[in-house]
Amino acid sequence: MKLNLSCWGCMQEAAPEAAGEKAVNVRPIGNSCFYDLTCPYGHQSYVLIQNAKFEILFQSGLQALNAGYYREAISSIAAALERFYEYSIMYCLCEKLFPGNAVAPEEAVLDKVNAFWAPISKHSERQFGAFNALYYDRFDESPIQFDGKFLKKHGLKLKKEPIDPIAFRNLVVHQGYIATREQAIAYAEAVNKYIHTLARRYWDRNQQWLYNMTTVDARLTAKQMGYSYQNGNIMGVDKITVATAINTFIRVTDENYILGEPSVMQLIK
Ligand SMILES: [Zn+2]
Repeated sequence: MKLNLSCWGCMQEAAPEAAGEKAVNVRPIGNSCFYDLTCPYGHQSYVLIQNAKFEILFQSGLQALNAGYYREAISSIAAALERFYEYSIMYCLCEKLFPGNAVAPEEAVLDKVNAFWAPISKHSERQFGAFNALYYDRFDESPIQFDGKFLKKHGLKLKKEPIDPIAFRNLVVHQGYIATREQAIAYAEAVNKYIHTLARRYWDRNQQWLYNMTTVDARLTAKQMGYSYQNGNIMGVDKITVATAINTFIRVTDENYILGEPSVMQLIK
């Protein structure tokens, strides 16, 4: 998946009609939310992509689907679901991240979050356990599960037995099953429906937290880089930081997505 990153310097200097093309730098998607950008005209900046990781992974899956790579699509979308569990864990911790009316966590809180995350960071089963426990604590009930019952309730079919979506994912990712286009679309729709259902609850409970969370990854990442991210900039670095978001199908801070009935069929070519 490629990103079109705009250069802040070019946008400032170029005549408005020329700015568009000159300012766009194409970069492959990376693991960090920060992109260290030096444009062909020598402008230096950090571009901060504020989308949640699961939004980007899901988008990458949709692009693979449209390009005819169905196994790859399912693999990216399954990864998006796992990162959504991580996002949900952080959402459930929002009272600690944003006490009172704070819109950003204190450095000391970020240290605690990092310490909490470290022992579970490489273990998806542990993360899934943390998600279930923290969700129960926050909402006073267990989260709906991404299983055959969920699919049935929403009239979704994977067009392959077993209907259980976890078993289906394992079949594709671990056993080399070559999924069909219809199966990939059905899987994408099921994950979208699941994420949408929970994200809607998060929005209804505390919409502001969803906006606040768009900078948490930046703060944690800056810390890992040895800096701190404050007031929209990486402190101590002689480069401007430009925050932006890419246009993804799933966008939990977009009320068109959250309040609508989004279907991946809108994007399938
Ligand atoms: Zn430039």
